[in-house]
Amino acid sequence: MRRKTDAREIPPTAGLPLRLGDLRGGQPALAQVLAPYSGCEDALLTCSGTAALVVALRMLAQRSERREVIVPAYTCPLVAIAVAHCGLRLRLCDTQPGHFAMDPDALHAQLGPQTLAVIPAHLGGRPVDLGTVCDMALAAGATVIEDAAQSLGARHADGTPSGLAGDIGLFSLAAGKGLSTYEGGLLVARTPQTREALRETAQRELPVRAGWELRRSLELLGYWALYRPRGLRLAYGAPLRRALRRDDPVGAVGDRFSMRIPLHRLGRWRQAVATRAAARLPAFLEQTRAQAMRRLPRLAAIPGLRVLDDASGAHGTWPFFLLVCETAAMRDAVMRALWTAGLGVSRLFIHALSDYPDLRAILPDDDCPQARDFAARSFTVSNSPWLRDDAFERIVKTLETVTAQRD
Ligand SMILES: *Cc1c(COP(=O)(O)O)cnc(C)c1O
Repeated sequence: MRRKTDAREIPPTAGLPLRLGDLRGGQPALAQVLAPYSGCEDALLTCSGTAALVVALRMLAQRSERREVIVPAYTCPLVAIAVAHCGLRLRLCDTQPGHFAMDPDALHAQLGPQTLAVIPAHLGGRPVDLGTVCDMALAAGATVIEDAAQSLGARHADGTPSGLAGDIGLFSLAAGKGLSTYEGGLLVARTPQTREALRETAQRELPVRAGWELRRSLELLGYWALYRPRGLRLAYGAPLRRALRRDDPVGAVGDRFSMRIPLHRLGRWRQAVATRAAARLPAFLEQTRAQAMRRLPRLAAIPGLRVLDDASGAHGTWPFFLLVCETAAMRDAVMRALWTAGLGVSRLFIHALSDYPDLRAILPDDDCPQARDFAARSFTVSNSPWLRDDAFERIVKTLETVTAQRD
């Protein structure tokens, strides 16, 4: 007999669920209600985090002759696609051992008179200290664009919101990244001058396009209807299992992206829906944080596993736990045991950027062994409130069993 819990599917990240009342719309005041997190009353709304990056890069490229952009070798493939879309040259910066943060020596080797921008990222809500990166970029005359797509609400050790430690910052409002307009983004900058320049560029780059807005509005309705444990079985679990049966991990985590980036304005109704939902964001971030603080010690105690935590004083968000196994074989064994269990265990980006076949045409041949190693040894455990204590304990027990089999 199938157990009742079999109809449930836990999402890999803790997104804020929509309520029926949100769909009534109302005031589209999203930038204002998110100001405590973004640090800007007048943050710019865009149709995606990728579009926000395109606007930032186009603005910078228009004001400079420099044509190279340095990105971490382990980050979202959309970052690389956005750089190529703007006609700029990519340079990969290898990561620190066992982490996704940029390695300062590798960054030093890539910085030069052609460097327009550096795009460090805070993955899974973990704010990376950007002091060194910002100092090095400043000395080289390059702009820091902080990729806070996965860290809306996180704070650096000095209290600065993630996204505002560099010159320009971006957040994603995509489905599965917390607060969502199905697709959406937010662009912030430290100085009013930069914000004005970004606004002018966005005016040009993001025209009103009714067809895209209609499509995204319907997708947002679908998100409201299906973003719950039973709906996710259909919307997330079924495609995941199909992709894994085809031996297609990139498809399983939704890492395969088009080279064409939709660029248009974010409509008023979707903004208003997210504005209503955003009223619940502070409590949701607090709830997931409290749950993470209770569960993190359980995961951290498992031999052979390391859980990424915040640097002293930093205050991250907790959409999921990012874990690193001692060996790639151990990580693969974990995924065999848990990826299709419906418990929200997954992987972040499948490859280092240089290992995505679809990106080969736009990437340099830089060798990035640490990023590749991080891709091979890391995995994620959902921190969705829908993952109940008994299900979390099942994950812990399985991890203990799998990791005990190492020799
Ligand atoms: C999702 C993501 C992006 C792109 O944001 P979209 O809103 O999906 O376009 C950029 N960087 C990182 C690290 C991401 O996770």
